[in-house]
Amino acid sequence: QAKADGKGVYRIFSPQMEEDLQNRRNLEADMRHGIKLGQFEVHYQPQISLKTRKIVASEALVRWRHPERGLIPPAEFIPLAEETGFIDALGKWVLQQACQDALNWPEDVRVSVNLSPVQFRQTDLVDTVKTVLELTEFDARRLELEITESVLLQDNAANLEVLNRLRSLGLTIALDDFGTGYSSLNYLQRFPFDKLKIDRSFVRDLENRPDSFAIVQSIATLGRNLKMLTTAEGVETQTQLDLVIKAGCSESQGYYFSPPVPETEFRTMIGRKTSDVGGALNVRSPKP
Ligand code: C2E
Ligand code: MG
Ligand code: MG
Ligand code: MG
Repeated sequence: QAKADGKGVYRIFSPQMEEDLQNRRNLEADMRHGIKLGQFEVHYQPQISLKTRKIVASEALVRWRHPERGLIPPAEFIPLAEETGFIDALGKWVLQQACQDALNWPEDVRVSVNLSPVQFRQTDLVDTVKTVLELTEFDARRLELEITESVLLQDNAANLEVLNRLRSLGLTIALDDFGTGYSSLNYLQRFPFDKLKIDRSFVRDLENRPDSFAIVQSIATLGRNLKMLTTAEGVETQTQLDLVIKAGCSESQGYYFSPPVPETEFRTMIGRKTSDVGGALNVRSPKP
């Protein structure tokens, strides 16, 4: 809390706040330094077609291999990267890495990359994506960009234009974490999405809550009627898999098949069917 010092002036920052601020500054400096030192890695989590049971794509998920702190998950640095603007450099790096990596995969395996709302607001986003596609010579049709509903909150006309320009490059757009946050069905009318990713929270409760099944089934039906694919996120068990199939989802992603893994490991999974080894696609033992 703010304390009066001897002269009756109030300090704005408590010692704790000063420490936090310093930690954030250090972390930011570490990030900017770390990207130059090659400390960031992109891991890949397979997305399975529920029709063919084969890997049709993978989601690129960034990690930071910190020299002292080990592998840091994105939740611990993406928010700060967004606040400080570092996300632009990081996001571009992830996109380029993902396109480059996916060049190693069969042509029918696509890659999806998360876009931060902050990146989405950059006026040069479309040019950046175009440049990366040209530099890597990656086929745009194999690229999907994932955005969340928070991206679409303001400025509809401008957002619509960005989405249309991105799609005119040949790539597809997925709406991530669908069903949470500001879900509003009129987004689906206004914006051209190719895929809805059903948020993990609904999948998690499938076994215990009939209303979660009703929601997943309704989203799957909505997607089908609007000609969008639907991906069930966070499938961890055989029962959940059975239920998302029953609900009519077209694709699925989750620890049941595989956690996100380094690129070399992902490559060894390609071509496997989920039925080959129960649900797990992983070459190692499946993670919980
Ligand atoms: P997301 O885009 O919704 O990604 C899915 C997250 O769910 C990943 O967490 C993934 O590891 C996790 N997940 C997948 N299957 C399961 C499961 O069966 N059970 C559970 N409990 N979790 C599962 P991760 O990799 O920690 O990423 C968290 C979030 O960080 C992502 O959520 C995304 O919003 C953000 N993120 C990750 N990489 C990037 C990136 O390159 N750029 C941006 N802007 N955001 C990123
Ligand atoms: Mg995502
Ligand atoms: Mg998601
Ligand atoms: Mg998320």
